[in-house]
Amino acid sequence: MRIARATVLHPHVGRRLSKASLRRLAGRSISRVERHGKHQLALLDDGSTLHVHFRMSGDWVIHPGGGELPRFARFVLELEDGSQIVLADPRALSTVQLLAPGAPLTTRLGPDAVSTAFDAAHLLSALARRRIAIKPALLDQSVVAGIGNIYAAEALWLARIDPRTPASEVGARDAERLVRAVRRVLARGRDGSGRYTTSGAARLNVYDREGKRCSRCGTRIERIVQAARSTYWCRGCQVSPAPRAKRP
Ligand SMILES: [Zn+2]
Repeated sequence: MRIARATVLHPHVGRRLSKASLRRLAGRSISRVERHGKHQLALLDDGSTLHVHFRMSGDWVIHPGGGELPRFARFVLELEDGSQIVLADPRALSTVQLLAPGAPLTTRLGPDAVSTAFDAAHLLSALARRRIAIKPALLDQSVVAGIGNIYAAEALWLARIDPRTPASEVGARDAERLVRAVRRVLARGRDGSGRYTTSGAARLNVYDREGKRCSRCGTRIERIVQAARSTYWCRGCQVSPAPRAKRP
């Protein structure tokens, strides 16, 4: 199905789309779609790529066409049959851009956390170059796409890894455990629509549980701040890897 017209309805969402790129979208068809966490790449038949970054609250809504657009419609791809693919985003933080054939992504994207490309070997090589701690590294979309703050804390707890561990000091065994833990928490937190949600809150082991007892070892959960985000963790059982020297 070909795109008949592309329309920007919110200046922030469309700020990376020139009038010329909007015109270029007309007549194109989408040959393949890849999702990397909050990023989506729609590969078009002329080799160009429509890159959508959904950020906090954006998602596509399929609209049969005619009548009123869905609430919070920010960007619309109208297809030749009159149906519309609508980017709805209450906070209008999403961005859309058209990348020329072969153009590199402005954000280098790691594999999606739910894909088979996210494995211990990838994680080890991505972490080897990082000077930051493992917790903020897990939130870095160039390491792995699709892990939010809650899931990073929960996965580190499951894998018994100290969130303050320098990323480059995470070893092979911990990387294996961490990949398995990430898959488990994402599987638990995903609803039927395939989007990440916080509806699994009742089953959280550390996130937002400061001062409560760890269900595994009874130590009180602590909250620290890393890269301006809260990290909840258990000092009692998140002890891997054994620290070389005592960390603050
Ligand atoms: Zn514990």
